Formats: sequence, C-alpha cells, structure tokens
Amino acid sequence: MTFMGDFTYESRPVRVVFRPGAAVTATPAEVEHLGLRRVLVVCGSRGEAVARAVADALGDSCAALHAEARMHVPVETPTGPCVAQEAGADGVVAFGGGSSIGLGKAIALRTGLPLIAVPSTYSGSEMTPVWGLTEGGAKRTGRDPRVQPRSVVYDPELTLSLPVPLTVTSGVNALAHAVEALYAPDTSPLIALMAEDGVRATAEALPLLAVDPEDLEARSRALYGAWLCGACLGATTMGLHHKLCHVLGGTFGLPHAETHTVVLPYALAYNASAAPDALTALGRALGADDPPSALWDLAGRLGAPRSLAELGLRETDLAEAAVQVAGQPYANPRPVTAEGVREVLQAAYEGRRP
Ligand code: NAD
Repeated sequence: MTFMGDFTYESRPVRVVFRPGAAVTATPAEVEHLGLRRVLVVCGSRGEAVARAVADALGDSCAALHAEARMHVPVETPTGPCVAQEAGADGVVAFGGGSSIGLGKAIALRTGLPLIAVPSTYSGSEMTPVWGLTEGGAKRTGRDPRVQPRSVVYDPELTLSLPVPLTVTSGVNALAHAVEALYAPDTSPLIALMAEDGVRATAEALPLLAVDPEDLEARSRALYGAWLCGACLGATTMGLHHKLCHVLGGTFGLPHAETHTVVLPYALAYNASAAPDALTALGRALGADDPPSALWDLAGRLGAPRSLAELGLRETDLAEAAVQVAGQPYANPRPVTAEGVREVLQAAYEGRRP
C-alpha cells in the first residue's frame, strides 16, 4: 500500500478524565489542576441533583450553582455571564447535555473564564471550540478557542439515566460527527482512526443499551465512542449533513439529536460516490457493505424516528429548507446542488430506504 500523506493536524490542549463516578470524584481535582478557586456550576433542571452533589464535593471552590440551561442557548435570557460575574467566579463547570455545555460556552465566550465540561449525553460539544446562540429565532454558531473546555470529565454513570430514545438519537448524533470527519477537507490519518473506532464503539453499544439502558459497560463504550466522535467534530469542518440539520433545527425548530438520526443515512448516501475511503472505513466499523443502509437499519432496529415527517416537518417546508441549505457555499465531498439537496430532503421526509 502506498501512503502519500497530505494533511494538517492540530491538537488542542484538553485534559480528559474518564471513569465511572468521575463527576463527583474527579471534578474537584480538575478545578484544582486548573488553579481555580471559585467556579460557577451550570446545568439544566434535569441534572440539578447530580450538579448539586458536584457542587457539594467542590465545597468552598463552588461560587454558585446556576440551573438555567435551556435548549439552543437563547441569548434573550443571558443571565449566565452576569451570574458568573456577580458570584466572582474564576471558572465555569458545565454539567449536562449539549444545551448545558452550550450555556457554559456562552459564559466562557462573554467572560473569557476557563470551562470544565461534565457531559451527560453523547452530543460531543465538550470536545469542540464551537459555540451556538439562538437570537430572534435564528441560530448563530462560531468557533473560538475560549469556549473549548480545558478539562472534560467523562462519567458513564451519569448516562445511566438517559432514556432509550435519547440514548439512541444522541448516539447517532455522535456517529454523524465521525461520518462527516472521515470525508472532511481537513481530515487526517489520526482523525480517521478516531472516527472509525468512534463509529465502531457507538454502533456496538447502542443495541445493547436499547435492551438494557443500565448496562454500565455498554454505557462506557458508548461514552468512549462519543468522546472520539466529538474530538472528530472539534477537529474538522462538517459538510452537507450538519448543514441540513442546522437549517432544520434552526429555522424549522426540529429537535437536534432526532434530526441527525433521520438525516444521516440520506446525507451519507448523497456523498457516498465522492467519498470512497470514508465508505470503506465506515463499512469496516459497521460490519456492513452499504453504510447508508446499515445506518438506516440500525435506527429502525432501535426504534428511532426515520422520517422528517415523523418529526413534524411539513412537506411544504422542503423547498425553503433546500434553498437555505444549497444557498451557501461549504465544504462537501460532492458538489451541493439545489436539486440534489431537494432529493435528499424529500427522501428523508418520506423515510424510505436510502
Ligand atoms: P440537551 O442537552 O438539550 O439534552 C436533551 C434532553 O436530555 C434534555 O431534556 C436534558 O435535560 C436531558 N438529559 C441530558 N442528560 C441526561 C441524562 N443523563 N439523563 C436523562 N436526561 C438527560 O441535548 P443534546 O443532544 O445533548 O445537545 C443538543 C444541543 O447541543 C443543541 O443545542 C446542539 O446545537 C448543541 N450541540 C453543540 C455542539 C457544539 O460543538 N457546540 C455539538 C453538539 C451539540
């Protein structure tokens, strides 16, 4: 086999601690490691009990607990940065899913405070320098090294409470990061290794978790997969799939992880002919000859939604969504045409085999 090599890879300074129970036992050590003395702990209402246990474990190092994280981080209620300043915080610990970590990032963006993330879903936000804010119904995103968490504490026990539907869709959200990283213009051999193993780990764990969501070993495997997939997201430029989901979520209000789950097989089928190496890697990871079909089958087997119609999109919205997705240039292995996007959206709307 020949290897020519033509890539750039940048690694970001992030510490990762991974073990069952780490939320309470390792977070204080990470706060100390970063030299912080008064951190603001943020979470959503769902995660408040465990966040409170983390706050208790932090003792005097916890300045305050702010349980106000909301889906898609609305800037209409920008209380987080003020709370951080009023509490005299010198750092932020964000505890929960992508929405809570998004609030932590919003605070880090406004205040420059260092962020520690303790994720409880497979969204992968904890491994990226990407922030997102929703203002007047439109979602804005950007990249800024200030929002990249300095430490990430992965605790599989936190994910035991994830209901099966959210486990599955959040897991497929993770798969989507790895899929697009494999054919990204800035991919590299190391990213390809992480993406392939992230897909393998996640796709092996999800069927086990659909049967027994409290299987801690499968939880650990899924969270390990989410870490790898999140690292791929943070290191590369996403393509058509993420653009479709961004528009469907931002403009049409579709739910984040479910939308990723529905769209992924169709976006991958669209790109398949232009990304043969990615398809080979995904075939190995999924143990399948036809990765788009295998992902569609996986979602069906696990009881996940498979059509945009099921998520509440109206057929009359497809044309506007296609215009928005095709209207801006972005990296994608296959050229993005209005007609091509329209076909992808129509197939995803109907939920037919890709
Ligand atoms: P989420 O954080 O909104 O959580 C979904 C639901 O699950 C919420 O009701 C939450 O309370 C609940 N939940 C979270 N953890 C739980 C647990 N362990 N047990 C039971 N319930 C739990 O959803 P998400 O999918 O994690 O994140 C989606 C958000 O993150 C979106 O706004 C998306 O844009 C953003 N995101 C950002 C990035 C990035 O790099 N910036 C990456 C991925 C996602």
